[in-house]
Amino acid sequence: MNSKVRKDLLKNLKRVVIKIGSSVISHKEGDGSSLVLGLSEKMVLHYAREIKKLVDRGYEVVLVSSGAVMAGRKRLHLGRTQLSIPEKQACAAIGQSFLMHTYEKKFDKQELKTAQILLGNDDLENRKRYLNAKHTIDALISYGVIPIINENDSVTVDEIKIGDNDTLSATVACLANAQLLIILSDVEGLFTRDPGKPSQKDEDPAELIPLVTRVNAEIEKKAGKSNSHLTVGGMYTKVRAAKKTMSFGIPTLIVNGMDKKVLEKVFSGESVGTLFWSQEDKIKDRKHWIAHTLKPTGTIVIDAGAVRAIADKGKSLLPAGVIGYSGNFVFGNAVVIQDENQNEIARGLVNYSARDLDRIKGKKTEAIKNLMAEGFYQEVIHRDDLVLSP
Ligand code: GLU
Repeated sequence: MNSKVRKDLLKNLKRVVIKIGSSVISHKEGDGSSLVLGLSEKMVLHYAREIKKLVDRGYEVVLVSSGAVMAGRKRLHLGRTQLSIPEKQACAAIGQSFLMHTYEKKFDKQELKTAQILLGNDDLENRKRYLNAKHTIDALISYGVIPIINENDSVTVDEIKIGDNDTLSATVACLANAQLLIILSDVEGLFTRDPGKPSQKDEDPAELIPLVTRVNAEIEKKAGKSNSHLTVGGMYTKVRAAKKTMSFGIPTLIVNGMDKKVLEKVFSGESVGTLFWSQEDKIKDRKHWIAHTLKPTGTIVIDAGAVRAIADKGKSLLPAGVIGYSGNFVFGNAVVIQDENQNEIARGLVNYSARDLDRIKGKKTEAIKNLMAEGFYQEVIHRDDLVLSP
């Protein structure tokens, strides 16, 4: 079953989010109490090469990288001293630019351009900002640029932080509509019990779990809650991240990023790490949220051609198909889509305000581009933000 699932996974794979943990791109210097960690240029270069191979094979890659605080600490020679929140935030600010500079240098060598996006909880909870982030990622990918995302650590205080990049990467995978999240960690995956602890007399040895189809209490328990001194994550946040992506129908793969061949193995269908995926479970929380939770703020009426495109062909709603609207919606609001006989066809999140829609409805793309300039979107409602009504 596991090997078939691994192959299925690759079949529809186009966009992948890869989370690189601090431990994967760091190296140790010194020992004992003087042991410090610094950014490993060698590992960054290694992953630049690996990602170049994926891009050349036609995959779209989005990176989520940790390492800012670690790199900042190192640059300030702070060793392992306990830091206050402002001090950590200062380290993040110093380390983030250094981290990006390193990524930029190494990716440049592979003729790949990179871009930095720093996200906070606010950006992810506010629909408008969420959609903005999503559009930016889409635009970067369409330019062939690799977005590199981290939390905006230097301005977010602990209480409102996302807190760990496992959670952030899960959100990014949903936001970017990826078909896979790969978490590169310094462990092989999820084990039947903590592989770090020696087994007791009557205990079975710790074994790697290759496939998890449901994150239940037992699996969460196996993930424990241990944190290493370096990362804020640990297996617990990884498993929680996997649970989140699974509820959006996106598989998550936790693998050992210290194994230099790991991405090669993943993309050739080899069974490495722990895959979290339930192929039957296709409840998409976000779509559910669009269809059932959000209160529509308006209605868009579309012609018969657009109805066919949306309902039968799975297409996005384009301005050319819009014949009318009502309500006073703005970018990011939920609206109902109706046919000419007032039958509800779908619901979705709009890219245009009612006012702008009035200017562009029925028009062709070129004319709209001229009219809207920077506010131009190809779609009135992108397919990913649209749910057909029963
Ligand atoms: N955003 C933090 C950093 O760049 C890391 C958080 C994590 O490792 O999960 O240092």
